[in-house]
Amino acid sequence: MRLKRETDLVPAAHLTCVGATREEVDDLARCYWDAGVHHIVALRGDPPAGATDYNPQPAGYACASNLVAGLRRIADFDISVAAYPETHPTASSPDADLDNLKRKLDAGATRAITQYFFDSEIYLRFLDRCLAAGITAPIIPGIMPVSDYEQIVRFSAVCGVTVPAWLRNLFDGTEENPDLRRIVASMVAVEQIRTLQTYGLNEFHISTLNRADLTYAIAHSLGVRPIQTNASHNVTDPLETTEIPDERETSTDFDTTKGLQEGAPPLMLRTLFG
Ligand SMILES: Cc1cc2nc3c(=O)[nH]c(=O)nc-3n(C[C@H](O)[C@H](O)[C@H](O)COP(=O)(O)OP(=O)(O)OC[C@H]3O[C@@H](n4cnc5c(N)ncnc54)[C@H](O)[C@@H]3O)c2cc1C
Repeated sequence: MRLKRETDLVPAAHLTCVGATREEVDDLARCYWDAGVHHIVALRGDPPAGATDYNPQPAGYACASNLVAGLRRIADFDISVAAYPETHPTASSPDADLDNLKRKLDAGATRAITQYFFDSEIYLRFLDRCLAAGITAPIIPGIMPVSDYEQIVRFSAVCGVTVPAWLRNLFDGTEENPDLRRIVASMVAVEQIRTLQTYGLNEFHISTLNRADLTYAIAHSLGVRPIQTNASHNVTDPLETTEIPDERETSTDFDTTKGLQEGAPPLMLRTLFG
């Protein structure tokens, strides 16, 4: 809500079903709406640390599709949900997971944001499966800058995300050199986004994980520049949902003060803090 109050950013509140009754979640959603936060990322959430199974609160929302339906009853939110190109680790099958995504979109979500992945092929194959299942909503690719390689390997094992050998090779020998790691991490993310752009994708979701500097460098390398805003108390540069040109298709310098150049397809970056 501070982002909304003090900046010109368009914040998206991540709302989970964990540890709260439907009434509590609904109250919070109403607060967001009243504060002008109209975009919600609706998630079930994970079981608390130490627990293996997810046990919904008896009076709470059991899963994200129920949460989406609840939010729809409250106000005309713009709702994003999670999608899993490599299948959610607890799903009974890839098809059942796709059915679940469909349920969330049918319940009223506008788009899905994917779990991060490193090989573009994984995402592109998932898009094909979505289309074959009749899913036409935007499926925004999730990009995870690798700020801590070992942590990402551990986290990916839990999330069911493949860490390819080429990524390990890139980080090999960087253990004692944090600056080099950060350069490699930025390069990997920029290359991943550039590759996806060649398939006509122009909207990306970058997990910032409270380390805005890497995302800032990635966005800068992609041509995003801070926009002049009227907000008097900006707390951060307005990278969220910033439109930038695809520089490969624009021969002249991009002047951010003049907006998009004619003919330049916009690139949309969303950032996830937390
Ligand atoms: C882009 C993104 C952002 C995220 N942000 C956060 C965050 O901010 N905070 C946080 O805590 N977590 C976050 N997560 C993680 C997320 O909360 C976990 O992955 C969680 O385990 C599942 O959440 P979900 O919304 O996908 O759940 P759901 O869509 O409810 O699905 C969870 C699992 O249950 C299955 N399922 C659901 N309903 C049914 C049903 N009716 N019948 C059978 N199976 C069913 C699904 O197939 C899936 O396997 C994020 C994930 C992504 C991809």
